[in-house]
Amino acid sequence: MILTVTLNPSIDVSYPLEHLKIDTVNRVKNVRKTAGGKGLNVSRVIHMLDHDLTATGFIGGYFGKWLEHQLDQDGIAHDFLPIDAETRSSIAMLHDGGKQTEILEAGPTITPEDAQKFLDHFDKLLNQADLLTISGSMPQGLPEDYYTQMIAHAGAKNVEVLLDTSGATLKSALEAPVKPLLIKPNEEELAGLLNREVDKTDYAALKQDLQDPIFDGVDWIVVSLGSAGAFVKHQDKFYHAAIPKIQVVNPVGSGDSTLAGLAMGIHDGKSDEDIMKTAMTTGMLNTMEAETGFVNPAKFATYFAKVTIENY
Ligand code: ATP
Repeated sequence: MILTVTLNPSIDVSYPLEHLKIDTVNRVKNVRKTAGGKGLNVSRVIHMLDHDLTATGFIGGYFGKWLEHQLDQDGIAHDFLPIDAETRSSIAMLHDGGKQTEILEAGPTITPEDAQKFLDHFDKLLNQADLLTISGSMPQGLPEDYYTQMIAHAGAKNVEVLLDTSGATLKSALEAPVKPLLIKPNEEELAGLLNREVDKTDYAALKQDLQDPIFDGVDWIVVSLGSAGAFVKHQDKFYHAAIPKIQVVNPVGSGDSTLAGLAMGIHDGKSDEDIMKTAMTTGMLNTMEAETGFVNPAKFATYFAKVTIENY
């Protein structure tokens, strides 16, 4: 199975409002609440495409129970470490013709005891895992190199890691002796890592950027480019994955859906071409749905056939 990590899950609350009024009351009818956090978006897409997975991370309180119940209802297997503090909520207000205002709680602060307990719990889950995905930022209280420690634990059990994070946590993972198999930085994250500007429309420059020694030892680097697809490095090969023009309904969670596609393709031992085509298809299918981290499996084959991969 694929083990997916969401250390700071959240109840994602979506409020559709015609107009957001400040300093007064806004009444909402069609409230939607889903099990969120980037890793749970990854989990839902993997599950919708019929692959075995277990979702893990920290979970706590009544909100945590609600979240686990939601995953049960969706048929998503999970094995979280319970903690004393409440799991967070994240609010997205969709208003004024396409605007999105978000209020994101920081979530619980993890104690050093729970941090250690989770690593023990994680070690047990790794025994049944073929592949690991780690997504998102970390909750408060954990050291910057906590993902790096997790990658070392996975490495000790020969479980490869797909890492989708940013900032100091990503930098720490790239500097460690045990590397993730794959990273998925966006333009901003690449610029942060390289300490210089990056132009994602200039593929020749991107090819140079991805050969920076900072990435040595990382097999796959996937730079997703929204409607332009993705620029990808796999070992010493470079590709541009091109996608068709599609009708976008809601692009939020496309990056997570892309990671789900990469995980399934790699897990299934597919060719480079099919791994990238799977990832582009899951990304596109997510943009075509209103819900975040959702895909319609019935459309998979049609859009898969429309992705083209060129060597660069
Ligand atoms: P996120 O904000 O969700 O983390 P991201 O920046 O990591 O997203 P994107 O590059 O925006 O990821 O999107 C990931 C993939 O989803 C793309 O490679 C593409 O396959 C698909 N996608 C995203 N936006 C569009 C779009 N406007 N049209 C077509 N496909 C899209």
